[in-house]
Amino acid sequence: MVDILSIHMAFLLFEAIFCFLSAILCVLKTSRDKKARTVVFILNVMAGVLILNDFFGYVFEGRPGRFPAFMVYSSNLIVFLLCDLFLTGILVYTSIVLFGRFRLSKEQPCRIRSLLVVLLSLSGMALVIVSQFTGMYYTIDESNLYERGKLFPLSVAIPVVGMVLIASILLQHRKKTTTYRVLTILSFIILPLLGFLFQLLFYGFTYMDIGIALAVNIVFVENIVYQNQQIRIAERTDVRTGLANEHSCIEWIRTRKGKKEILDYAAIYFDISRFSSINRKYGANTGNRVLSIFAASFAREIAPDEFLGHQRGDQFIAIVHKKNLDKILKKLSEVRVSFTDDTGKENDVHLSVHAGVYEIENADISSEAVITYAATALEYASRTASENPVVYMTKDLMDTIEEKRRFEKKIRKALEKGEFLPYYQPKVNSRAGKLCGAEALARWNHKGELIRPAEFISVMERNESICDLDMYMLRAVCKDILKWQEKGLAIPPISINFSRRNLADPDLAEKIDKVVTESGIPKELIEIEITETVDEFPISVMKAFVDDLRSRGYSSSIDDFGSANSSVAVLREIAFDTVKIDKGFIDHDLEKDLTILDHIIKMARSIGLKIVAEGVEQEAQVQKLQSFGAETIQGYYYDRPMPGEKMAERLADPYYKK
Ligand code: C2E
Ligand code: CA
Ligand code: CA
Repeated sequence: MVDILSIHMAFLLFEAIFCFLSAILCVLKTSRDKKARTVVFILNVMAGVLILNDFFGYVFEGRPGRFPAFMVYSSNLIVFLLCDLFLTGILVYTSIVLFGRFRLSKEQPCRIRSLLVVLLSLSGMALVIVSQFTGMYYTIDESNLYERGKLFPLSVAIPVVGMVLIASILLQHRKKTTTYRVLTILSFIILPLLGFLFQLLFYGFTYMDIGIALAVNIVFVENIVYQNQQIRIAERTDVRTGLANEHSCIEWIRTRKGKKEILDYAAIYFDISRFSSINRKYGANTGNRVLSIFAASFAREIAPDEFLGHQRGDQFIAIVHKKNLDKILKKLSEVRVSFTDDTGKENDVHLSVHAGVYEIENADISSEAVITYAATALEYASRTASENPVVYMTKDLMDTIEEKRRFEKKIRKALEKGEFLPYYQPKVNSRAGKLCGAEALARWNHKGELIRPAEFISVMERNESICDLDMYMLRAVCKDILKWQEKGLAIPPISINFSRRNLADPDLAEKIDKVVTESGIPKELIEIEITETVDEFPISVMKAFVDDLRSRGYSSSIDDFGSANSSVAVLREIAFDTVKIDKGFIDHDLEKDLTILDHIIKMARSIGLKIVAEGVEQEAQVQKLQSFGAETIQGYYYDRPMPGEKMAERLADPYYKK
């Protein structure tokens, strides 16, 4: 025969232990919200004490002796007191969930009802004390047996009225939190009430207290779940714009992967054109504000079953229904943003975007592939600039990209296998008709076919392998020079091209020096050619590099001077030894170009720079340059680039008979 009382008592004991364990977990910082954590801790301790005293009540009830009498009295007192005190506890927890705080001053929302609940709680406790002397709630006889008093229903009515008041606050402000949390708090009313009804049917058991304790358990678990949810949301949100971040974009696609509905979507990867100018003009803070206003205004165009996220910087991704694509792209072509800058002034800017579009056509596609396709299309859109701000990722484009990727791989392999070699193009002093230097130019010997830089330099600049090529060329030139030295040839300075990409490395000059020193050739024989940069790095970076080279004993020249990128300021600021005048300049013999050329040469000479004219093909050009005072000439007129062995012959016979 099952002894129901023993089961009941065992349950009470376990429930009490569970509440205390939960309280300990609260101390171990299960949640980041300190206020909520403290209240949940207190509620758990209270529930533990309540249930434990319930348990003691049963253990000692009806046992003779003074100690059992003390235990029966104190445990009943504590249970009745706690039932009223819980009202305040639940009110505080409700306030924290709804309003983030609890304060019984004017700022407390629903102040009257809150005050009433606290008053009920306090007066309920006072009545429990009174009952100790009057026996209005319960009495305990000489054999330590518990018996209900006449006003026992009042002891239940007070918490019930209090809970109804709390429920009215909760329901009025239910929009302030999740349905989930509202139901959790409502369990404080529903479970004890159910318990009370049970108690009416089965006199002698404390189902109402158990109801309270179970509600506390639910709050504890819900609080942990809620906190974890908050952490997950924080992980998936970008702080600057409040939009979903890349992580959640991946998640969004992943949850739809493999389902047919994903085929209705297209991904738009876009960035705001010339956003850096806004940052520069108004400062980074305002820039961030503009970004979040832009995001908020554009977010309105996005349907609930579509996605908008912030990637990085001024880049965003939207995943929208294909049928909405045109409408959204049109919207994106001009977005007006009004904002106040740091000085408080109202401003208005029109933002437009470059966009890459990928229409999903394979349900099993990975999130990463969707993002990469759209992002790559954007890369193309940005490169073709204003004429085509939107680029669709098509099969053809995908093939081109794939082709490029294969080619890049091939180049990397070639570099590893040492398939590159230097060709040398002489520089000639046109007055003396004598070789006075040479430039090393890279050639790729691919299966016996000689490939020129136009085919591989730009690809290598894009994937940064150019830096490896330049160092490789330096080592190869050093080796050739050593060979020529061994033959007893007189060797003029040889220049080597270094791409501007190398400037990201602050130790570049040191690395160059190491290669040259280790090879054992004289430093004067090495000259570094570099094109000017206004786009990637500030002038100071190139200046630091050139100064570093100079202090280590190397000369340097600025390449392609007079082409689109150059500015005269660079010549003034950076201590180059030589300026190489761009071929384009020499090709034109328009009046205006010649006047500028004349001025550049005069100016360069006046600040002590040597001058090399490149790409000279005709006698007339040589003469014109000579008349301007530019004597050093590099061009097909004298020689084409040639392999090392041929160059050795040239070095042995350095005079040109023209
Ligand atoms: P660059 O540094 O301006 O080199 C001069 C280019 O003009 C060379 O082309 C040369 O062959 C060509 N050239 C010389 N004289 C004449 C002429 O009279 N007429 C014509 N039409 N062309 C002439 P190349 O060898 O095809 O190199 C092209 C560019 O590739 C170079 O321009 C340089 O910027 C880059 N490059 C070559 N080798 C390397 C290297 O090892 N590293 C780096 N970073 N860039 C390199
Ligand atoms: Ca060059
Ligand atoms: Ca050049």
